Amino acid sequence: MQILTHPRDACEDKKILVQQVSDYLEPEYSPSHVVLDHNDYSKDNSVLEDFKHLAFQWDRRKSRARVPAHVLDLMNDHLCFNLVWLSRKALEEEEILFVWIVAHEFRHVYQTTKSISFDDLWKKSRQLWHAEFRNLPSSPLGVAELDADLSAMQTARSIFGVELLTEFLQRRPLPRYPYQEYTLFLQRLEVACRGNEKQR
Ligand SMILES: [Zn+2]
Repeated sequence: MQILTHPRDACEDKKILVQQVSDYLEPEYSPSHVVLDHNDYSKDNSVLEDFKHLAFQWDRRKSRARVPAHVLDLMNDHLCFNLVWLSRKALEEEEILFVWIVAHEFRHVYQTTKSISFDDLWKKSRQLWHAEFRNLPSSPLGVAELDADLSAMQTARSIFGVELLTEFLQRRPLPRYPYQEYTLFLQRLEVACRGNEKQR
């Protein structure tokens, strides 16, 4: 896995965290390339909407249109099979959320390389939502996203410990789905899925 920064030599501390996440997870989670991008694309309409997000995962099945030149060069490199792009906003985040974001995207890499069945997770998440969390709008609860968030939660817990993770989850909602209840939902879902780790 290559970790690249744009511009070069920026954010060494975040590079170390990316490596730490990669070391914690199995090799199938790591993309061939990670880009830590300090550019601000929020007002740049020439690039894809993805570059206005916190982070995204790219692989060869996806488009290369409307991508900034320095990222396109990488995507065109035959050694680049999949890539995780991290935004300036993500880089400026506190460490625990940054690790969460990286681990979430790394799980998407894993999802593309392994064929995971989401049946059990889908069933359990629907049951839980129907039983206790109907206040949460159900639309952003896509099962691949839930799976990535569960993996991110596990990784953040193992790197920062239970106490720091619990404090973080109580203090602020997750940017991708900013409802405080969602973090509770995730924690309950994790418990409901325990014992099914192998299928996940
Ligand atoms: Zn995602």
